[in-house]
Amino acid sequence: MRLLIDDARIWDGTGAAPYPGKVLVDGERIAAVAPQSETVAADGAERIDAKGKFLMPGMVEGHSHLSFVDVARGTALGELAPEEHTLLAMDAARKLLAAGFTSACSAAAAKIRIDVAIRDAIGDGLIDGPRLLAAGPELTVTGGLGDGRKLHLPLESFGLPVDGPDEMLRTVRLCLREGVDTIKLNISGDFGTDSAPSDAAVMTDGEIAVAVEATHVIGRRVAAHARASESVKRALRHGVDIIYHCDFADEEALDLLEAAKDRVFTGPAVGIVLARMEGLHGDNSRQGRIVYDRLQRLYDASCRTHNAMRKRGIRIVVGGDYGFAANPQGTNARDLEHFVRHFGFSPSEALQAATRTGGEIMKLGHELGLVRPGYLADLLLVDGDPLADVRVMQDKGRFAFVMKGGVRYTPWQGAPHVRRLH
Ligand SMILES: [Zn+2]
Repeated sequence: MRLLIDDARIWDGTGAAPYPGKVLVDGERIAAVAPQSETVAADGAERIDAKGKFLMPGMVEGHSHLSFVDVARGTALGELAPEEHTLLAMDAARKLLAAGFTSACSAAAAKIRIDVAIRDAIGDGLIDGPRLLAAGPELTVTGGLGDGRKLHLPLESFGLPVDGPDEMLRTVRLCLREGVDTIKLNISGDFGTDSAPSDAAVMTDGEIAVAVEATHVIGRRVAAHARASESVKRALRHGVDIIYHCDFADEEALDLLEAAKDRVFTGPAVGIVLARMEGLHGDNSRQGRIVYDRLQRLYDASCRTHNAMRKRGIRIVVGGDYGFAANPQGTNARDLEHFVRHFGFSPSEALQAATRTGGEIMKLGHELGLVRPGYLADLLLVDGDPLADVRVMQDKGRFAFVMKGGVRYTPWQGAPHVRRLH
């Protein structure tokens, strides 16, 4: 299957200015990229007249939770049976693909095997969805983020509570045995968790150390939920590979992140913070005001930190924490707007975070995230100019197609899903 995308405005993901050109796709890869003035040998290829539309690499969701199925509270995930839950995650995978995200690096699944099953089904072509790196549940301490239990009720949420190095080691090895690519550790607390606030590093050195050792020894990665400054430092000290949030990172933590910038990835996942703040506007209840104040502090810290991290050249990925009622699956491209509006990114820098840096976090930086010969043909053809207004990426109706590995998908008559063309 050969396809010539002719007369497109090519933005290649490196940050270089777009130019009129053509791209030849052969099978699942890009065979040639050339300016419009040059000829490309494309005998027998199907030709698409792009009519000057914007052609760019497919986006990468850097912190996905496909099994967080737009619920209002974490324990609603625990109430779902594995069968229904997996089907809902399959639905979320299709929505993410339709939103222009052709890859996703998971930052936790609500049950140990959901991401694994979805990843393999997508890889085998059984279901449509982005390339996926699978994670296990959020490993958390008792009382930490994702511990949904009450003393009188054995509730489950998206976290799996583990306490002490022995229990941690056993649980990490279990998740690895079941096939996850990434172990997720909730080192800090969060805004909605009274017993583990955002600025507290509740997971101990001993717990983190065994988790990282057991994961790295078989070549897999550890990601951390780390809002507190000390949680960022603890993650770095133990060699955690992906450090999300980093909101309260102080100067020392920023220096350490910068020193490790060729090794680590970060991602703010600020969408949920902003969405929850919007939802609490006008809520004058005591609890509503308490949570709003926490969110405001978090937002202020996040803006300060992510502007500083951008200037220091630390790798930051787009996306994160879509999959709650306030911040639903498929609206992930809002993150680009957040990066531009709140973190000082230019539209080009935000798009590079979503494409080139995204390819790197997928461990495919040598073949994913750029429009370049030999790279995987993950491409978006967009009717609009995201460099002028990055919000056009939020409008799925503007995608002439979403292509993953040479397979084209088009929007399905206004539905949140895509239709496979061939
Ligand atoms: Zn998350």
